[in-house]
Amino acid sequence: MAKSKLYQISKSSLHGKGVFARSDIPKDTKIIEYVGERITKKESQRRAEAQLNSNNGRKSKGQVYIFEINKRYDIDGNIPQNKARRINHSCAPNCVSFIEKGKVWIYSLKKIREDDELTYDYGFSLDTYEEHPCACGSKKCLGYIVRKEDRPKLKRLLEKKKKKAKKEKKAKKEKKEKKEKKEKKKAKKAKQTN
Ligand SMILES: [Zn+2]
Repeated sequence: MAKSKLYQISKSSLHGKGVFARSDIPKDTKIIEYVGERITKKESQRRAEAQLNSNNGRKSKGQVYIFEINKRYDIDGNIPQNKARRINHSCAPNCVSFIEKGKVWIYSLKKIREDDELTYDYGFSLDTYEEHPCACGSKKCLGYIVRKEDRPKLKRLLEKKKKKAKKEKKAKKEKKEKKEKKEKKKAKKAKQTN
């Protein structure tokens, strides 16, 4: 495969390996095609289910390589030729994925400096957020990979969860204190009767 002038694969501080700009890239540049196997929705579903079964019901990261092209077809990018699969997610990305005539392209969203890591929003749905923790480090990051539109919802969900955990912790503490008090009382009583 010919080496691209625009990008190179290198170790990422975000996750595993990443894709980096080899030179400055202007805004709105077509950088890399997300290549893969064109599969029907049915096959896509089958692969997702097979993956689920082989992981004891836990979803694996293999699924993140499936890209929706249209109502009938998906692209499974989990092949070695697909360098774009190395691009990491960020909640404040510098790239974006576009579908053009059945192909997936990664474009720059802004000017990217040489050696900067390329990132785009994976756009995962809210229902699977717990399986996709995010460590992109951006100010907008909520700790999970969830598409932009769902992030306000996730934020509320996480706040609710935090409150609940706090409440539960408090209740647990109170229960423990109550138990200790009771035991102390019991011990005292036992001492008196002796
Ligand atoms: Zn993030």
